[in-house]
Parts: sequence; C-alpha cells; structure tokens
Amino acid sequence: MRLLLIGPPGSGKGTQAIVIAKHFGIRHISSGELLRQHITDQTAVGRAAAEYVARGDLVPDGLVMDILRKPVEAASKEGGYVLDGFPRTVGQAESAYLIAKDLGARVQVALYLDVPHDELLARMMRRGHTDGRSDDKEDVMHHRIEVFEELTTPLLDYYARREILVRVDGARPVEEVSAAAIAELEKIRPTLT
Ligand code: ADP
Repeated sequence: MRLLLIGPPGSGKGTQAIVIAKHFGIRHISSGELLRQHITDQTAVGRAAAEYVARGDLVPDGLVMDILRKPVEAASKEGGYVLDGFPRTVGQAESAYLIAKDLGARVQVALYLDVPHDELLARMMRRGHTDGRSDDKEDVMHHRIEVFEELTTPLLDYYARREILVRVDGARPVEEVSAAAIAELEKIRPTLT
C-alpha cells in the first residue's frame, strides 16, 4: 500500500504514521524527520533548509523532492510507504505525480486526519512544547497551522477529485484514531490498484 497522510501540525500525524506502517508492514517516511536529520548533520540540504524549518515555512520544493526520491522509490519496491508530510502543496503533488507514475510509486490513498483549528490550539496550550523541537514554540506553531490551512488544505480537494481521499476524525484519543484509520484502510485495501 502506498499511502499519504495529511494532517495539520499537532494532529498526531507522526504517531499514526508509525502505527499504520507497522500494521501494513510498510515503510514510514517523514519529510520533516528527514529534514531535521539533514539539519543536525549539517549537510548541504540541511544548511539550505534550516531557516525555513525554524520559521515554520515550507522549504523549497526542490530540496524536499531530492531527499525523498530514493526512500520513496525503495519503499515502493518493498510493499509500499506511509508518506508523512509530503506533498504539502498541490504543486508538490503535481510534480511528484509526474515522477512517481513512471516508477510505480504513485500514491494510492490519501488519509486526512481531521482535527479542527480550536482543538489544535487546545492541544498546543495543554502540552506547551512537544518533542523539544525548536519549531514547536507557540508563535512558530501558530504559523505552521496557518501555512497548513493556506497551502496544504487545497490538497484535500485535489485528492477528493481523484477519489482516493479518506477522512478520519482525529479529535479523539490516539488509539481510537488508529483503530478508525486502520479500519478504513482495510476496507479499501482490496480495491487498490
Ligand atoms: P508538522 O506537520 O507537525 O508541522 P513536520 O515534521 O511534518 O511537522 O514538518 C516540519 C517542518 O519541515 C515544516 O514546518 C517545514 O518547514 C518542513 N517540511 C516538511 N515537509 C515539507 C514539505 N513537503 N515541503 C516543504 N517543507 C516541508
């Protein structure tokens, strides 16, 4: 299964991606984690991406596409992937589609973890900071949520039109969200081509 996870910052997307990857025996690929690793290692990509990530802005498409190409291609040959954090714009989705369709790596399902704006803010206030990530400060979190609403939500329409969008209510306890996501994906698994 080749799956894309879409959800705002604070939706629990990373957590669900891990559970889903384990259930279906597929690879979890997180664009955010890969970028953070490049930044820690101070690679050329990391140095170019650092200031965007720190501000909560999207890093330029070319950088993200570069670091994802190999892992996505490899995972596609080994049963599939849960892609967490990419694409984040319709432009990225269109570019990726052109590359992926020739590689047999094209997305089959887009799963949207739906968490309303107010609930995201409530979670953010409750936990203060999360993993000690430097982009988890309150003002940067606000900006990341804005960027999601402006640039990423148009993706929902994009995948709905292709009839591969599945929506799960993400404003529930982690285990309930996982169970609902897996149930929905199991339902459509036999129809995937
Ligand atoms: P979240 O979705 O919770 O904000 P991520 O770990 O997915 O966290 O992303 C962290 C940061 O990495 C983003 O704010 C952005 O700067 C960068 N990033 C991740 N994926 C992409 C992408 N597909 N395109 C551009 N920037 C990205």
